[in-house]
Amino acid sequence: MGTDLKSVLITKEEIDAKLAELAAKIDADYAGRELLIVGVLKGAVMVMADLARALSTPVTMDWMAVSSYGAGTKSSGVVRILKDLDTDIAGRDVLIVEDIIDSGLTLSWLLSNLSSRGPASLKVCTLLRKPEAAKVDLEVEYTGFDIPNEFVVGYGLDYAERYRNLPFVGTLAPHVYGG
Ligand code: 5GP
Ligand code: MG
Ligand code: MG
Repeated sequence: MGTDLKSVLITKEEIDAKLAELAAKIDADYAGRELLIVGVLKGAVMVMADLARALSTPVTMDWMAVSSYGAGTKSSGVVRILKDLDTDIAGRDVLIVEDIIDSGLTLSWLLSNLSSRGPASLKVCTLLRKPEAAKVDLEVEYTGFDIPNEFVVGYGLDYAERYRNLPFVGTLAPHVYGG
C-alpha cells in the first residue's frame, strides 16, 4: 500500500458486508416505494455505486456537489453548492448518501436545504461517522461504521484529491499532511 498510508482501517470485504446489511434495511423500510438516492460528490461516489447495486428497491440517482473542506484536513465551516440536483425532489422519497460525517456541518446544511424543497421523506445514509458527529443533533438513519477521530482516505475519500480510488478505508501517515 505504499508508505503514505499508516494502516487499513476497514477492508473492502468489511465495506461490502456492511453495505449489504444497510441495503437490506433500506429495502425493508422503503418496500413498495421508489427511492431517489442523492450522492454527495465527490466522496460518496463509491458508496453510491456499491449501495445502489446492493439495493432491490427501484432507485433513481442524482448528485450534488458541495464544498466544506479545502485541500486540507480541517473543516472551513462554509458550505457552498458547486453542483445542484437535476431532479425536482418535491414529493419524492429522498435518501442522502454520504461518505463520512465529521462535524456534521455539511449534513445539517444539506438537510435544511433539501427539506425546504418539499420531499415526501428525507433520510441519510453514511458509510462512516466520526465521534464529533454524535455531538450534533442530526438524525442519521443508516450508519455503516463509527470510526475514531483520525483523518481517513480511500473508498471515495481524498487527501488533496488523491487516494479516492483505494478499495479500502485507511489512515494517512502524518508525514503526508505535515503532521
Ligand atoms: P463535516 O461537514 O461533517 O465536518 O465533513 C463532511 C466532509 O468533510 C466529508 O464529506 C468529507 O469530504 C470531509 N471529511 C471529513 N472527515 C474526513 C476524513 O477523515 N477524511 C477525508 N478524506 N475527508 C473527510
Ligand atoms: Mg461527503
Ligand atoms: Mg475531500
